[in-house]
Amino acid sequence: MSTYPWISISQEDEVFKLWSHKTLLCDLGPGQAHASVSLPMITFIGTIKKSIILSRILGYSRTLQPHGQVHLARPRLTENFNSEIYIDCELGAEIPCARPQSPACTSQAIVESDSALNIGYSLISNVLAPLSDVVCYFAADLRGIPGICSILAYQAVQAKAHNLPVRALPFALVVVETTRASHFNHEKVQRKLYNMVLEEMNRLKKYANRDLIELDLKSRYRDICVFGIRRDGPLSSHAQTLQQRIMSLSNDVHVGRTFSRYLFSLKHMETLAARLVQRFCMRQSSFNFIRATRPNDFDCKDTSLHLEELLGMMPNQSWIWSVGVPLFASTIFLPNYPPEAHEFYAGQCRKAIARFIKDADDQVRFVDRVKHRLKEHHQKYEDDPYVNSAINQHTETLESLWPHLSKLKSFQSCLSCLSIGPEKVFECGHAICNVCVRRLGQRSTLSRHSFLLPECKLCGRLQSSEKNTFDLVPPSAGLRVLSIDGGGVRGVIPLVHLDHIDKEMQILGSPVRDCFDYVCGTSAGGLVTIGVFLMQWTPSDCLVRFEDIAATTFKSGHDKTFSLSRKLHSLLRTFLRDHRYNLSPIERAFGTGFETAMKMFNPLRVDTKVAVTATTVGGNIPCIHSNYNGPRSDENNYQHVRADTFGHDISISDAAACTSAAPYYFKSKDVLGLDTYQDGGLTHNNPALIAAWECARIWPEKGRIFETDKCRIDHLISLGTGTSPSNRYTVGPHSPKKDRFMHRLASWASGSLDSEVLWNRFLNCIPESYRSRCLRLNLHFPGPEPALNDVDSISRLKEQTEDAICLDWRVAQAKDFIIAGAFYFELDDFSRVEGGGYQCSGNIFCRLPLNLEGRKTFYATLQDNSTTFTIRGRAVAIVDSAPHGSPPFRLMFNFVVQSMEDEKDQLDISVQGITSRPMLISGMPMSLGTLIRAQGFDAPFGCSDGRMDRPLPAIPSKRKLHGF
Ligand SMILES: [Zn+2]
Ligand SMILES: [Zn+2]
Repeated sequence: MSTYPWISISQEDEVFKLWSHKTLLCDLGPGQAHASVSLPMITFIGTIKKSIILSRILGYSRTLQPHGQVHLARPRLTENFNSEIYIDCELGAEIPCARPQSPACTSQAIVESDSALNIGYSLISNVLAPLSDVVCYFAADLRGIPGICSILAYQAVQAKAHNLPVRALPFALVVVETTRASHFNHEKVQRKLYNMVLEEMNRLKKYANRDLIELDLKSRYRDICVFGIRRDGPLSSHAQTLQQRIMSLSNDVHVGRTFSRYLFSLKHMETLAARLVQRFCMRQSSFNFIRATRPNDFDCKDTSLHLEELLGMMPNQSWIWSVGVPLFASTIFLPNYPPEAHEFYAGQCRKAIARFIKDADDQVRFVDRVKHRLKEHHQKYEDDPYVNSAINQHTETLESLWPHLSKLKSFQSCLSCLSIGPEKVFECGHAICNVCVRRLGQRSTLSRHSFLLPECKLCGRLQSSEKNTFDLVPPSAGLRVLSIDGGGVRGVIPLVHLDHIDKEMQILGSPVRDCFDYVCGTSAGGLVTIGVFLMQWTPSDCLVRFEDIAATTFKSGHDKTFSLSRKLHSLLRTFLRDHRYNLSPIERAFGTGFETAMKMFNPLRVDTKVAVTATTVGGNIPCIHSNYNGPRSDENNYQHVRADTFGHDISISDAAACTSAAPYYFKSKDVLGLDTYQDGGLTHNNPALIAAWECARIWPEKGRIFETDKCRIDHLISLGTGTSPSNRYTVGPHSPKKDRFMHRLASWASGSLDSEVLWNRFLNCIPESYRSRCLRLNLHFPGPEPALNDVDSISRLKEQTEDAICLDWRVAQAKDFIIAGAFYFELDDFSRVEGGGYQCSGNIFCRLPLNLEGRKTFYATLQDNSTTFTIRGRAVAIVDSAPHGSPPFRLMFNFVVQSMEDEKDQLDISVQGITSRPMLISGMPMSLGTLIRAQGFDAPFGCSDGRMDRPLPAIPSKRKLHGF
């Protein structure tokens, strides 16, 4: 017989537990093809009478056995097969409930304990009813009419646990037995029952008036209906007439759910059921169907801020109606999934418009217009979901607004979706977010996560061919982080390190600038960061420029004579002018070659996130200037600076001047429309900590190095600007004369600037398991450190660094990290295996953006070094010869994993040969569950960028056989 255990409740030592089997609603439908359709769900509550009628409706001659649980059932497949699903519930019917025998279910403790009966009633009203069209109560099994009254009243006086609107609520159908059907007056009984329920409710919870009682009852069930069957009549005809009655009520609910857009497919119901059960056990806040059906990474908490920014840019009121309304409606429709369900953000919309339109009627009119447009979008979608997909309709809307949008620009809001900040900038200056890049771009054939956008989506301007591809970080890959310290002329030390790594990386056909996802620099390190990672100069080119900048900057004031009078004169001059040197050589170096000042948030084809630190003069607040936005956050102890208006955004040359404006040496830097800044080294001379904070903010799901379970940082390399043992505080008795106040103050100040100390503090903050992923490359001076402005020491510093690199094992380790971090793994399929376990297949890809020449070099290096990959102990060698035409690298793997989350069963793919020792590739080790979530496979409601739905992994057959 086709009934399946689903939920049961047991009581053990005063604690109630809910046991649930995975709902396989899709399997109960007529076939997998129907997973996307919506089928009526009917709940039957009772015991013997319920079982007799239900077995007839299902088409069986044998009566269902009592089980005391909640089962799922479908009608026997016959020619006139009705596609309904029945929930067969015996909870709350005074049958002792027990822990199920089957091992294939999971249990959760129920937070609030009541009596077993009341828990059963709550489960019916909070989990089963919201999923059902009709809930049938069998009076004969539930202590007659008074019993039914107390069940319904109990349910109605509890706090409502979901947000279904009245039109989407189920009917309660009370099945009563009569002696003579001809005398049974439905309406009369119905009215009587209704009043009795209200009376009982009033007894349980004192209401002020009858309206309030009715309101509570109407928020549970659309209505209470009564169906009478004759005690002595033929069973099969009863079953038939009851089924007809149920179907007509169900049709009503179907219409109501369609109209209010709460009609869900079986596949969605399956997920919603699991979430409702979870909510029921935890007693969390009310279950919001819409939020639960949003795409996995959907985020709308900043929608009104972005809408406000858009409206604030409009040149006049008429634009609000002609541009604001259609654009906003289209952006709400865009991430709508499932398309049958949506919530209109009327509150957010009203709040935003209130700032620009004072007239209350007009405010309402604006909200109505948006609502109306939204309805039109839904209508078009329903006419042809394929041709009029949300993305196609949105593209159409944007194109119709090109003439207007070309005049509106923002670096704070993605004008294509109004949900988050933009990340990728087009040549015209328009910027869109990463999600929109995925939504609106075409997937590149060369790289898994590169997207082609031949034209600006906001104004239609064509992009030059070398700037029309945008790379995104592969979802399953880890993060590669670099931080560079400040240190005046000693900035050549990190540059020599970078230059060395750059030359080493040529074996992979890729420059070092493509090997990091996040780079942050301070002061001189900030200049290196901007030069190499933003301006895309090679490190050796950057070295030449850096020496040049240092020579011109420090030449004017650098004083070699030691005469006291000259020194005093220079000190006095510095005091009066507030600085010794001029920032203009730095500004010139980063500002030339472009007609207009290039912005930090710039259209150069840079996919690495780059930031430089600075400190505000007022308040000494640490801050960063960056080429990215990331999610908004108010919780940082530093500022992420972004101008309020497009025109005031900081230019590259200003950012370079800000980060290096060390007090005493330079004047602080005023940036129009922003603030006055000085050297970031004052607060974060070693920006590793800021880099780690920023990664946690930008990639909350994998960038948290301070937490043990949310970190997929492959490596964090910190480049120092030299350290000297003479800086260290010496142990032993101190002379009262030498350790006086001024000296101690000076030593404290230099200690808080000492990057080596900051590095050790940083290491102490992160969990021990990640410390081996953090690497510091630095130069150790035998004597005192050269001064920040000692231009003459540059060539000596270069030589010393080059010599040190040859002896430093850390440099080889950095290279291994970078090479291994270039490979990542992606699943492409799941299937079930007999005997248990998840059978997976996937590919190792390379994330370096290589051209044909680069790929040839890459393949040659892999072969020369007899590179092998090892996955779960099994080694796979790379092909003997480069594949014909040198296509992008991929290596396929099949493997079986027993568990989704078990730490002992994690995936660990490593590479060796090309690295000096076996190294884990990017993102590893990770559990299968993490990989599935990262790739969005477990997103039953899709992902907000409209990526194709992939199948959920099936449970291993071992479990399934026991369960069903
Ligand atoms: Zn967007
Ligand atoms: Zn544009």
